[in-house]
Amino acid sequence: MSPHPTRVVVVGADAAGMSAAHQALRTARRTGRDLAITVLDKGSHTSYSACGIPYWMAGEVGSGDDLVARTADEHRAAGIDLRTGVEVVAADVDARTVTTAAGEVLGYDELVVASGAPAVVPDWARRADGSLHDGVGVVKTLDDGAAWRERFAAVGDGAHVVVVGGGYIGVEVAEAALRHGFGVTVITRGRGMSMLEDEMSERVNAALVEAGAELVLGAEVTGLDLDGDTVTGVHWDGGSREADLVVVAVGIRPATQFLEGTGVELTEGGALRPDPHGRVAEHVWAAGDCCEVRRRLDGAWVFRPLGTYATKHGRALGDSLAGGSLSFDGMVDTAITRVSVGEVHLEIARTGLSRADAEAAGHDPVALLTEGTTASGYMPEADPVAIWVLADRTTRRLLGVQVVGGRGAGKRIDTAAAVLWAGGSVDDLAWMDLSYAPPFATAWEVLQVAARRVAERL
Ligand SMILES: Cc1cc2nc3c(=O)[nH]c(=O)nc-3n(C[C@H](O)[C@H](O)[C@H](O)COP(=O)(O)OP(=O)(O)OC[C@H]3O[C@@H](n4cnc5c(N)ncnc54)[C@H](O)[C@@H]3O)c2cc1C
Repeated sequence: MSPHPTRVVVVGADAAGMSAAHQALRTARRTGRDLAITVLDKGSHTSYSACGIPYWMAGEVGSGDDLVARTADEHRAAGIDLRTGVEVVAADVDARTVTTAAGEVLGYDELVVASGAPAVVPDWARRADGSLHDGVGVVKTLDDGAAWRERFAAVGDGAHVVVVGGGYIGVEVAEAALRHGFGVTVITRGRGMSMLEDEMSERVNAALVEAGAELVLGAEVTGLDLDGDTVTGVHWDGGSREADLVVVAVGIRPATQFLEGTGVELTEGGALRPDPHGRVAEHVWAAGDCCEVRRRLDGAWVFRPLGTYATKHGRALGDSLAGGSLSFDGMVDTAITRVSVGEVHLEIARTGLSRADAEAAGHDPVALLTEGTTASGYMPEADPVAIWVLADRTTRRLLGVQVVGGRGAGKRIDTAAAVLWAGGSVDDLAWMDLSYAPPFATAWEVLQVAARRVAERL
């Protein structure tokens, strides 16, 4: 054992950073390494589920504390020197130091970048000093969640909420606002849920409308109406809507500015591209939303800022840093969400390539949409479900699956993701041994019918 502990500095105390820190300590106990881990975070919260914020906004989760998996004090008790309210503004990878906003310079032996990706805020949402106008906000941190809870309580019945952005977060926030009984308009540049094929995203749009939302598709927001400094309306190219509150959910950008000019390679969008162990440069590691991830199906680097990748990659990083060999071997682009308001309940899930991705990767793709039910038609549990399956004509390889349907539909995606992960064919999906009883499936499970129909077309 060396006389001095290895100094590990982690930037970011949420999913990726704390997964890495704790796994490094666990592995170090096994490998006999001596690590001194310091974690710096500019915020005040640690290890919380941002994923739960829309459900907290909706009132399904009672308190922001319920979303915290481990507090700062719990991390400290585990032996981590966790410092909140400390922003890293610069790094020198030759001298192996980071500099904080307060001017403190900390030396490291290993640097872990887990700084995530804050929300993008367009100019129209800001005051001259960069802060957001009253009634306008993003959905990213626990503080954002708390602010939305307060705003929702303050505006009261009859309020109108405009959500700018039609991706997962836009849809989840629209659901939250609809559950409060607010009027909701979702404005989005594209067609809404653009990670789905057209015929699938149309079903999501229809559910949002049935749940009471107004959709404005293919629109670019150009500005706000203000009363003093408080928002009263939103303009887009072609229309306007009065608004009591405006949620901005138009994307996020990696928080890697402090690495600019250090020689550590960043993509044009500011992302890092770590290897499966988390290495990005000598003595520099990274995981989580500040990174792109490798899609196993086509080898493409893609920006998919998801907690499921942040925790896995963080864990593999922490293990590798402490002498282990765990690796994060990419992903197959799996994701799930829902729209659930009153009688409307739609589960939405995708895995694998889109048709466009498959064509770009040189496949000869065949796709079919199949409709069925989530349980035997004679059971009360039976809800409609639509399943889109994509396969390669020549190799018969399964390439992608998308599911939109009622209760029990969404998690069917995991079966398809497992086949994709294993590099299986559409025949594997059609014929593998899946469970059946009338409350849960049809005798020919609908996912397997969908796969079989594609297999018969090849
Ligand atoms: C509303 C919402 C819903 C979501 N739903 C899902 C879901 O259903 N499923 C899913 O898989 N994922 C979901 N996600 C994504 C998931 O929350 C993120 O992928 C995950 O939080 C990423 O973790 P991270 O540690 O990489 O980054 P973050 O959670 O962003 O943490 C980064 C930390 O670094 C700190 N930091 C940044 N820069 C600096 C600096 N210069 N100095 C010091 N500290 C710094 C920040 O304060 C922050 O605490 C959702 C996200 C949101 C916002």
